[in-house]
Amino acid sequence: MLVEGQSFIDAQDELSVTDFCRKYGMPDRIIQEVFIPMAKALDFIDPDRLSMTVVLTAMNRFINETDGSQTAFLDGNQPDRLCAPMVQHISAAGGEVRLSAVVEEIVLEEDGSVRHLQLRNGETLKADEYVSALPVDVLKRLLPKKWSAMPFFRQLDNLEGIPVINIHLWFDRKLKNIDALCFSRSDLLSVYADMSTCCKEYKDDERSMLELVFAPCAAIAGSSTNWIAKSDEEIVEATMKELQRLFPTELGDFEGAAQLRKSVVVKVPRSVYAALPGRNKFRPSQATPIRNFTLAGDWTSQKFLGSMEGAILAGKLAARVVSKGEVLCKAPGPGSSGDGERAPPGLRGNGTAVAFGGGAVCGAKERKELLKQDPSVLDP
Ligand SMILES: Cc1cc2nc3c(=O)[nH]c(=O)nc-3n(C[C@H](O)[C@H](O)[C@H](O)COP(=O)(O)OP(=O)(O)OC[C@H]3O[C@@H](n4cnc5c(N)ncnc54)[C@H](O)[C@@H]3O)c2cc1C
Repeated sequence: MLVEGQSFIDAQDELSVTDFCRKYGMPDRIIQEVFIPMAKALDFIDPDRLSMTVVLTAMNRFINETDGSQTAFLDGNQPDRLCAPMVQHISAAGGEVRLSAVVEEIVLEEDGSVRHLQLRNGETLKADEYVSALPVDVLKRLLPKKWSAMPFFRQLDNLEGIPVINIHLWFDRKLKNIDALCFSRSDLLSVYADMSTCCKEYKDDERSMLELVFAPCAAIAGSSTNWIAKSDEEIVEATMKELQRLFPTELGDFEGAAQLRKSVVVKVPRSVYAALPGRNKFRPSQATPIRNFTLAGDWTSQKFLGSMEGAILAGKLAARVVSKGEVLCKAPGPGSSGDGERAPPGLRGNGTAVAFGGGAVCGAKERKELLKQDPSVLDP
């Protein structure tokens, strides 16, 4: 990697992390101790499923960038600390941010360019340029029939979001903890942190609040159980069992053990794109073959991974396409052609986040939406 650089890293996309380790004679202990926590943290997936390119890309940044290996927390919740300042910035520059404005259809001109966006509330939006930052699973549902047979868009068939669950647990006392993000190689859990110590907004010297990523949580990520289909109670119970191994002197069925006060389970059935071996070549450029339509989103081609930084970099690249008129598309991945045009399946939910590529506490309403929109994610 150090000698051959990015071309070596890109070439490893055909191998899983496990295959790569076997090929280069690395002991299984390295997979267990280093690559399980790393793969789960990077893509919510086990190392025998994850492309080695993802791990090498992260390592390359650790090596080459001074701050590349730092982890940090926002000092509060994302809507207030991350999104609100962005909205202020956009508004101050004359822009407008509209929430709950669901795009239902991309309506085309005769020549295949975008005429306008049809919103779910009946409104139409007309613009000089259209930039989509939709999750790949949503874009695939809206892809106009006319575009569907184009190899550039057909390659999206190879991309899909990976399921993941986020859990918040409030305890009746302070657990022994460190002021940092922890990387777990437990069967069910990935990264976690005690937010009562790590994050200003949740600071509490008396009682812990753990935030955990639960992964892998479905077959595509390497789990034999589809946890997205399970109830919140089952998920919390399984999590607590795993936590007893991490906090053996504080959690368990013994007198004086810390007690759970409250829990919240957030399910994301389609999160960042699944970086399975061989998929990187199907990530499209921000420039598309359509003159007034540009792509953004962390799943589009850019040097960072499926991450917040990746999403921002993709946005910057998209801005360059629009402002500088860069029209050179990356060639689609091999075999990206097929059986003629397809009508878009469209969006079936009423707008709950979980049906639109986001996360949600999955109550009866959300579950119903999910069943309409994406029933396969609830397959037992
Ligand atoms: C549990 C979890 C933990 C994570 N932890 C980290 C981390 O620690 N660090 C990190 O860098 N990244 C992390 N990520 C990944 C990070 O959240 C994503 O990489 C990032 O949010 C991708 O940004 P995006 O703008 O490409 O897509 P998204 O954030 O998915 O945004 C897409 C937007 O499109 C909207 N949308 C969908 N359908 C429609 C429609 N029809 N009309 C209009 N709008 C629509 C959605 O509501 C959403 O707001 C995590 C993800 C999860 C799920």
